[in-house]
Amino acid sequence: MPDHLTPELVSLRTLCQEFAQNTLLPDTAHESPQASHARIRHASKEAGLFTMTQPTAFGGTQAGQLALTVARETLASFNPPYLDAVFGPSPGVLAGVDEPLKSSYLAPLMAGEKRGSFGFTEPDDTPAPTSGKLSADQLIVNGKKNYVTGGADADFINTLVHIEDLGPSMVVIDTHLPGVILHNKFTSLDGSHHAAFLFEDVAVPRAHIIGEPGGGLPRAMRQIGDTRLLFAAQAVGYMLWVLNFLNRHLLAPDKSGTPRGDKEVVRWRYADLRIQAYAARSMLYRTARLADQGENIVNEAIACKVFATEGIGHMVDTAIQLVGGTALVEDHPLSTLYKKVRAWRLAEGASDVLRLNLGRGILELGKGRI
Ligand SMILES: Cc1cc2nc3c(=O)[nH]c(=O)nc-3n(C[C@H](O)[C@H](O)[C@H](O)COP(=O)(O)OP(=O)(O)OC[C@H]3O[C@@H](n4cnc5c(N)ncnc54)[C@H](O)[C@@H]3O)c2cc1C
Repeated sequence: MPDHLTPELVSLRTLCQEFAQNTLLPDTAHESPQASHARIRHASKEAGLFTMTQPTAFGGTQAGQLALTVARETLASFNPPYLDAVFGPSPGVLAGVDEPLKSSYLAPLMAGEKRGSFGFTEPDDTPAPTSGKLSADQLIVNGKKNYVTGGADADFINTLVHIEDLGPSMVVIDTHLPGVILHNKFTSLDGSHHAAFLFEDVAVPRAHIIGEPGGGLPRAMRQIGDTRLLFAAQAVGYMLWVLNFLNRHLLAPDKSGTPRGDKEVVRWRYADLRIQAYAARSMLYRTARLADQGENIVNEAIACKVFATEGIGHMVDTAIQLVGGTALVEDHPLSTLYKKVRAWRLAEGASDVLRLNLGRGILELGKGRI
């Protein structure tokens, strides 16, 4: 596994293995996180990895889903720090926009000159969704968004706004506009930073509506859909790391002098983890191949995301159980990984809600295959 990779993909896998070993893993305790990010970005550009997520129109090399899967899985299989610094920003909901958004937002985003964020989730106490009133030249926005990843450092937020009479639309809102209030900053269990925003009579130029007004939900869902395969690929990479970690642990002797893996019940548990990783990996590679053949993979990407993110959660949990209390010491790699992967069962779609979508797809819309 994975079977039948082309020579180019085998080379890409080797490149990623070398990149992880030579650039991501060396001890960088002397460096600030900013310096590490800058060093990794530079090396990633040199290696040709950085541009894999970027369109050719902006100097990128836009790789297919199978290539991205190979790269993400391979890098994650080393459980390295700063994985998020390897690939360049992708266009997200700004993909294919015309002027003026193309020059003022998409191009600077691709060049790393502006930072974007995604405002979709709303707090539970919101009585009505974030709304907008459209006039000839501007949109007046009122509402709240929560959990905007990187929002506090962002120049703009691609925000889902329900425009009166026209419906949900994605709108570029500059964070410095009057009425955009950074209400709260917080860090989640995995260490990532987020923000909550209030919008009070924010006047946004009409030209900042992305695409056709009312077409925002499918556009937002496309971005979320792309990210689901990313989560699955990283989750499968981490599964490989957990299995390798456990291999070493189970081959080593315990206090009695016999290898820990000699105990039958330990072997059963370990075998279950291997079965789970094999299934997740098979699903992931099949789905990436379908995507590259131009097929609609909405259902498959949901299945991969739910299975792989729940699977890695279970695997890390079981690995901690098999290793024992040392694995719970705060900076133990299993303890760190446990915190890192927990968010993925909620981010980009809670597992239960994705299950409902899968069910609806086949039972109400007649869509989906196994
Ligand atoms: C690390 C991280 C990064 C994130 N980044 C962003 C971001 O950049 N931008 C952004 O907009 N959001 C972001 N989010 C928010 C994320 O999209 C939401 O957390 C997720 O969609 C779940 O929404 P919620 O938290 O409001 O929980 P809820 O929607 O309240 O769901 C909680 C639980 O309620 C149940 N439930 C909810 N709805 C249903 C239903 N219809 N039927 C049955 N059961 C249901 C499920 O059991 C679900 O797990 C991020 C979240 C995390 C953890």
